[in-house]
Amino acid sequence: MHRILAWICAAGVALLAAGCGESGPVTVHLFAFDRATGTYGERDVRLDDLDDLTQMRGASVEFVGGATLVTDLLEASADPTGDQILRAEGGGPVSCSFTERDGVFHADDYESLDMASSYFALWQARELFVDLGVDPAQLGTIRAYYHPRIEFLTRLVPTFWNLTDNAAYAPSFDGFLIVPHVAIAGTPFSTNLGIMTHEYGHRVFNRLVDHGSTVPVSVKKGWSEIAQRQIRAVDEGLADVFGHLITGQSDFIRPSLGDDDFGIDRDMSVRRVMSEAAVTDLLTPPADGSLEVYDAHLLGAVVAAALWRLGEDLGDHRRVALAVLDAERDLGDAIAQTPKYDFSTLELLGRIASKFDGEDRTTACAIFRDRFAALIAADTTHSMGACP
Ligand SMILES: [Zn+2]
Repeated sequence: MHRILAWICAAGVALLAAGCGESGPVTVHLFAFDRATGTYGERDVRLDDLDDLTQMRGASVEFVGGATLVTDLLEASADPTGDQILRAEGGGPVSCSFTERDGVFHADDYESLDMASSYFALWQARELFVDLGVDPAQLGTIRAYYHPRIEFLTRLVPTFWNLTDNAAYAPSFDGFLIVPHVAIAGTPFSTNLGIMTHEYGHRVFNRLVDHGSTVPVSVKKGWSEIAQRQIRAVDEGLADVFGHLITGQSDFIRPSLGDDDFGIDRDMSVRRVMSEAAVTDLLTPPADGSLEVYDAHLLGAVVAAALWRLGEDLGDHRRVALAVLDAERDLGDAIAQTPKYDFSTLELLGRIASKFDGEDRTTACAIFRDRFAALIAADTTHSMGACP
């Protein structure tokens, strides 16, 4: 029932909404994070930047329903660095349904509640980055693809519910993927403020480091496998800094995992030290050049935990987030000026440390040296710069 409803709602393109006039900002009863209690629950929230409630469209986000996402192996073999390998096709405005009671709009179906809640989380994420000094013009309005049909591998083998209980940002079409939450008894990923801010963090990384490229610059410019692995990992780790900052939760994914952990070990407050085995794994990609799946989240979690520790020791997580954004800007400029950039985790940590002075820099360097000792010992071609 739930699945069928989702498809009808998502597929209901503009017909119903056309001609109704825009709602403008309204107060909506939705599902949201309450920072005071650290819990998710139902609340009445005014969506100040909303243009239209039915189409769930505003300055921050524009929902798209009924789209098909194609991951196309034929395109991948024709042009491995192209932006058509993962692409969004079709779709249009969604048509949500609400009933107004005493000045508050209540959703008439689950998907309308889900979209309003997701809109709120993405809006809050965007507000955070603007507050941290990211130019709103760089962020613009993002498309959120709601419950897209997903076709993996080739158009010849259509698939339907291929991806559930997750959220993602895709630079190739500059959009968020909001997929059905069907299997896990927790806060839906789409409404988890920490997760949606993490995803928005990937978009900011795309803007500041990749300068909005639809294909990661590391792929487009043919970086070494080791450099590509590290920038993917760093992207994951830095995104966690913002998921934590907005929620105050070091394990902000947890509310979406129900009673299980699904092998997801990302609590930033855990003291994570990069092991020699992890360093060996990172620095020795398969010699035959074959594609191997490297889980960037493992190294990413070490980066995130080091930055959480720094925020705790400085008593100021916001300053760490500002340093991260500054380091992302510097990195983006350096990459743009270099034909084939030789990226390393150590270099990025050095960039972040360089944003602090005196005692604070000493604190940052001590944490980075402690957590990445094995990598420092093994990777003799890179250094942490500001941390001699
Ligand atoms: Zn991520």
